[in-house]
Amino acid sequence: MPADELSRTPYRGRFAPSPTGPLHFGSLVAAVGSYLDARAHNGEWLVRIEDIDPPREVSGAADDILRTLDAFGLEWDGSVVYQSLRSEHYTSALDRLRRYGYLYGCACTRREIADSTLKHGTAGVYPGTCRNGILPGRTPRSLRVRVEPGSTGLNDRLQGSTRQSLSEEVGDFIVLRADSLIAYQLAVVVDDAEQEMTHIVRGVDLLESTPRQIYLQQLLELPTPAYLHLPVAVTSTGDKLSKQTCARPIGRDRRTAVLLDVLRFLHQELPDSPGDARIDELRDWAIEHWDVSNIPAHRALPSPLGYSGAEARP
Ligand code: GLU
Repeated sequence: MPADELSRTPYRGRFAPSPTGPLHFGSLVAAVGSYLDARAHNGEWLVRIEDIDPPREVSGAADDILRTLDAFGLEWDGSVVYQSLRSEHYTSALDRLRRYGYLYGCACTRREIADSTLKHGTAGVYPGTCRNGILPGRTPRSLRVRVEPGSTGLNDRLQGSTRQSLSEEVGDFIVLRADSLIAYQLAVVVDDAEQEMTHIVRGVDLLESTPRQIYLQQLLELPTPAYLHLPVAVTSTGDKLSKQTCARPIGRDRRTAVLLDVLRFLHQELPDSPGDARIDELRDWAIEHWDVSNIPAHRALPSPLGYSGAEARP
């Protein structure tokens, strides 16, 4: 049991996969890390399927992910929550932001933003074109939230202090997309608050989104949970393991060997004869010996061999 101060506070954590494909080594690390941290703190651990982006969804992926979690002994509390069934909660958060004066309609296309930011050398930062109203003859495509000057930061349990100036590094950001879908940033904030999450453990690739999420929490007067961003698994060429880099799906065989690879990846202590353990025994050992201070505070760590389609199987 970790000796940090978190073991005395109530704990509710979650794993929130987008059903864009089966779990791969990188997403399993986030699942296992969030699970072990929750259970080591005697906390609850919930699963939320983030299926609000149908164009990216792969049919059958949500069920496949749940079956894999189950096969690894990662038992969740309560029922699985599906974001696709929660649109009225997101709409009411949009209404609140609108009432507070933080929302505005934006008519810009991606191309227009890219052209304008290229000219000014500020790629990736929305230039505020529609902030004071859209030009006559244009129609709003998306909704953006106004950001204020100043910095938004967090003290990540692993990565330490991170600060971002949203106005200089991001600009006013989208909460309702041009295809009328709710943006991830808003949905995740609404759900983490309504599900009363106290601790978020996820991959460091989401760290740059966290200041936006904290900003939305502040606007909507919601609590900010504690964050821990785990290193992401990268291929030998330094690319994040993902569907795009042909990460191999985690099967439901060789589970003990795979869980051992996850524990080694997170620099956790291993039992003496790990190969002999059943999956539930290894899981319980891992809960008992979970120690965040062993995890390297890195953004990326090499994936063990065998999990990327770009390499031969060991
Ligand atoms: N659904 C997001 C993903 O699969 C993760 C969201 C989160 O953990 O905040 O990348």
